[in-house]
Amino acid sequence: MPALCVRALRKTYDNRVQALKGVSLNVAPGDFFALLGPNGAGKSTLIGIVSSLVNLSEGSVSIFGTDLATQREAAMRLIGLVPQELNFNMFEKPIDILVNYAGFYGVPRAVALQRAEEELKRAQLWEKANMMSRTLSGGMKRRLMIARAMMTRPRLLILDEPTAGVDIEIRRGMWKTLREINAAGTTIILTTHYLEEAENLCRNLAIIDQGRIVQQGPMKTLLAML
Ligand code: ADP
Ligand code: ADP
Repeated sequence: MPALCVRALRKTYDNRVQALKGVSLNVAPGDFFALLGPNGAGKSTLIGIVSSLVNLSEGSVSIFGTDLATQREAAMRLIGLVPQELNFNMFEKPIDILVNYAGFYGVPRAVALQRAEEELKRAQLWEKANMMSRTLSGGMKRRLMIARAMMTRPRLLILDEPTAGVDIEIRRGMWKTLREINAAGTTIILTTHYLEEAENLCRNLAIIDQGRIVQQGPMKTLLAML
C-alpha cells in the first residue's frame, strides 16, 4: 500500500488558474521522494491538498490507504507537515514548543517529554532546549520546525521547500536531520526547486511543470537522462 497515492488530481483556483491539470503519483512506504519544479509549477498546491490546507477540485488522495475525502481526520493523523515559514513562538523555548505541540495533538505529557528529548537530539538542538528560540541560528530554527513536526510520530513527513532561501551550510544540517528521520522509517516527501537537493537526498522524484508531472521515476534513472 503506497504511503501516498494521488489520482487524476485537478485544482482550479477561484481566479480560474489551473494549478494542477491531472496529476497522478505513488510514493512507496519508506521512500524519500522529491517533487521538483520551477516556481508556479503547482508544488505548493499539491502539498496543500495532501495536507488538507487546500480543497481539491477533482481526483483523489489517499495516505497509507486512508482516503482524504472520506477519512480526513484519520489521514491527517498520519501526516507531519513542515511549512515554509517559521511559525513557532520565538519567545518560547524549544522544549516547550515541542511539548505543547504534542499536547495539542493529545500526546500525554510524559510521552511528549521523552519524544522531545529524542527529537531535539536528532535535530542537534538538545543543548539549546532551554534557550529562547529567538536566539537560535537560522539553521537551528529550521531544524526545530522539523523536530516539532515529528512530535506526533507521523508516518509521512511533508516539507514544502524546506531550504528555500537558506545557505548551503544550513541546508546540509537540515539534510542530515532528514536523512536520519528517513533512515528510522518515516516516509518523506519534499518539494524543491533545487535539483542538487533532490539529487542529494531523494531516491525517487517527480518533476512537475505547469500543473503536470512531466517525468517520474528513480533519481538515478532521471539523472542519467539529463
Ligand atoms: P509552486 O509551489 O510550484 O511555486 P503553486 O502551487 O504555488 O506553485 O502555484 C501554482 C499556480 O497556482 C501558480 O500560477 C500560482 O500563481 C497559482 N496559485 C497558487 N495559489 C493560489 C491561490 N491561493 N489562488 C489563486 N492562484 C493560486
Ligand atoms: P510559494 O513560494 O509556495 O510558491 P507564493 O509565494 O507564490 O508561494 O505564494 C504565497 C501565498 O500566496 C500562497 O499561500 C499561495 O497559495 C498564494 N498565491 C500564490 N499565487 C497566487 C495567486 N495568483 N492568487 C492568489 N494567491 C496566490
